[in-house]
Amino acid sequence: MITTGIQLAYLSSAALFVMALRSLGQPTTARRGMQMAAFGMLVAVCATLVDQRIVSYEWLIVGLVAGGIVGYPLGMWVPMTAMPQRIAFSHAFGALAATFVGVGEYLHGLHAETLSHGQTLALSFEIFLGSLTVTGSLMAFGKLQGILPGAPITFRGQNLFNLSLFAVGLASLVWLVATPYDVTFFMVILVIGTLVGILMVLPIGGADMPVIVSLLNSYAGLAAVATGFALDNNILIVVGALDGASGFILSMAMSKAMNRSFANVLFGAFGSESGGADEGASASGGEMVAIEADDAAIRLAYSQRVIIVPGYGLAVAQAQHQVRELADQLEKRGVDVSFAIHPVAGRMPGHMNVLLAEAGISYEKLLDMDDVNDRFSDADVVLVIGANDVVNPAARTNRSSPIYGMPILNVQDAKSVIVLKRGRGKGFSGVENELFVSPKASMLFGDAKQSIAQLGVEIKQV
Ligand code: NDP
Repeated sequence: MITTGIQLAYLSSAALFVMALRSLGQPTTARRGMQMAAFGMLVAVCATLVDQRIVSYEWLIVGLVAGGIVGYPLGMWVPMTAMPQRIAFSHAFGALAATFVGVGEYLHGLHAETLSHGQTLALSFEIFLGSLTVTGSLMAFGKLQGILPGAPITFRGQNLFNLSLFAVGLASLVWLVATPYDVTFFMVILVIGTLVGILMVLPIGGADMPVIVSLLNSYAGLAAVATGFALDNNILIVVGALDGASGFILSMAMSKAMNRSFANVLFGAFGSESGGADEGASASGGEMVAIEADDAAIRLAYSQRVIIVPGYGLAVAQAQHQVRELADQLEKRGVDVSFAIHPVAGRMPGHMNVLLAEAGISYEKLLDMDDVNDRFSDADVVLVIGANDVVNPAARTNRSSPIYGMPILNVQDAKSVIVLKRGRGKGFSGVENELFVSPKASMLFGDAKQSIAQLGVEIKQV
């Protein structure tokens, strides 16, 4: 009876997770998606708590309280720009939990002499993927947080070395499955998994970390599937599979939106000194033309149509609230204002949507690249705020550019462009941007938050 109840609860939480994933696909339903997922998790946790295999609740309560104390500030107070590293940090702990479960189950089976080949296979996968995810995620966290150098760290024969290590790990896994009581191979898998996690992330540049975090998410999901098989727990298998698949799809989608192959992200050491930072440098050799805030304000105030293009610099400056105020101000003057959202603007998928939604900008004003690209030619002014690569025409015109082929926003089609950035810094890809030196573009130099605030003051006086 209890077992049937638990399985039914697991089934309903699995259904809730699937519906939640679907809702997360749209900004308008994303909040509901998160609520459904949280409720599904509550159902799954409660069902697991009545599982008769649990013999003591004291340590569970300790874990619950400790996790709550650590998790609440992580969820509530970490700024949006730090979200990728926060997610990497959480993954490390999720994977650590899976690894501990794997080690615990193996030791339990070892002493009780109940280890089967099938269970050993599941446990070996669990600790291999789990330990790899722990160190890989901590490395990603370190790079994103600036604790470790963000540039790719490479050495001769690195890929071959990593692949060989990976192969030794897999060979040990096969050996352990054949001889489940050979503890040495269990330890070897654990150590190799830990090393592979570190070595896999070393050659990947800090700015590619979101793709890696998403991939590690996928590995953590697969580790959970293995845990589910080892513990004979259906919800872990279902949730792990959903996590594994969605993490992998997201990694692929991010690579595609950057027009990079997945292999290039993993093995390409993008952003290194030899990565051709200037390969796509502007051929025009033109100069950037600066504009003062009062002139920029006049242009904006007397426009009919303004499209705002947010990018990574907006997130760094935390200027989302000032942008909303500026948009409100312009709309009060009868200007038609919309926002053009590139799928990889910022440093994680949906970064701009979340920032702008946080500032209360309505979803209808956020236009996806495919919907907005034809409208740029109608815009009197495009206001580019801390965006660079996602508006770089070299992606269309310069075959030698590292970003050639990446879909971009057609900002160059607008009647005029005002760019807000601090100086002459390049974007994530390290290439020059011809748009900034084109006759249509004027540069309003300074931190985006201060520049927008200044624009607001000036527009009031127009
Ligand atoms: P970019 O990284 O290309 O450019 C950001 C620009 O912002 C810089 O040129 C910088 O210039 C400016 N900037 C930085 N700080 C400030 C500030 N405080 N105020 C004003 N400007 C500032 O950003 P994009 O959004 O255009 O492109 C995102 C890049 O990240 C793409 O190449 C994408 O492929 C990559 N990426 C995206 C991922 C995602 O999932 N979204 C994942 C991984 C990578 P300056 O220094 O002169 O101020």
